[in-house]
Amino acid sequence: MGLPSRGLTEALVADFRRSGGRVRFSTEVKRIGQRNGSNGSTAIVHSSVDSQEYDQVITCAGLQADRLAARSGEDKNPSVVPFFGQYFILEPRFNDTVNGLIYPVPDPKYPFLGVHVTRRIDGGLMIGPDAFLSFSREGYKGLGLNVPDSLAVATDPGFWRFAAGNMATAAREIGGVLSIEKFVAEAARYVPALDGAGGRRVTRGIRAQAMNRNGTLVDDFVIDRAGATMFVRNAPSPGATSALAIAEHLIDTAALT
Ligand SMILES: Cc1cc2nc3c(=O)[nH]c(=O)nc-3n(C[C@H](O)[C@H](O)[C@H](O)COP(=O)(O)OP(=O)(O)OC[C@H]3O[C@@H](n4cnc5c(N)ncnc54)[C@H](O)[C@@H]3O)c2cc1C
Repeated sequence: MGLPSRGLTEALVADFRRSGGRVRFSTEVKRIGQRNGSNGSTAIVHSSVDSQEYDQVITCAGLQADRLAARSGEDKNPSVVPFFGQYFILEPRFNDTVNGLIYPVPDPKYPFLGVHVTRRIDGGLMIGPDAFLSFSREGYKGLGLNVPDSLAVATDPGFWRFAAGNMATAAREIGGVLSIEKFVAEAARYVPALDGAGGRRVTRGIRAQAMNRNGTLVDDFVIDRAGATMFVRNAPSPGATSALAIAEHLIDTAALT
């Protein structure tokens, strides 16, 4: 995600603090337990720092959503399969080629949208993201190999069912992962003025993509409820754009119970 997301997050943190909220950084939630009393249930959050009891808890653990849910006694599925998305910034002489965002029309044959062209707020022209299996849930540089994360994918039967049905996608994406020329050529299919542009790798993101046991990707948001805890288990793009609407939905749901 680019700078606008960061600015939005910082503004939300500032609002939250002004309203008396407390933000705890560098505190890992290990698991969440439930306590059932005569007045209903409460949630006990066991973290790397302490254990605290709350009336309501909402988890939004992104790439760790399935693990946190499983450690809290919930189903491991849908599991999270990480797909990285690399962006490229083009040479400055291409900055004025487009004035806004240009997206390809989604092709339902492919699980991800494909390369789009973004005029950034700093005036630069960015293309991306590609989509390829990540060897780590949180490795943002190089090959980023993480053995437990890779084993989790390799031992997930759903992943192999997905892989078997998506060889064409993998073949399409690997070209762009290995060569910026192929990546630019993909964008030049619908913005021909970009043909031959040079660029360099910039931001890489990793999608927390939920997958069903049968290997199908979960397109929609998934929110599970267990006692006083709501687990946001899948919030794929446009999860950032929809963040405030999702928050309203979560608060309404919590208020109903
Ligand atoms: C390449 C890429 C491009 C995207 N483009 C767009 C776009 O154009 N528009 C759009 O709307 N969306 C886009 N998205 C999707 C968007 O980023 C997600 O929908 C959104 O970030 C989901 O928010 P979240 O809060 O559920 O998870 P996240 O943003 O992943 O946040 C989860 C947080 O929980 C923390 N965490 C995890 N486990 C624990 C734990 N046990 N204890 C404490 N903290 C924990 C993590 O460190 C992280 O800070 C894109 C994503 C990627 C990867």
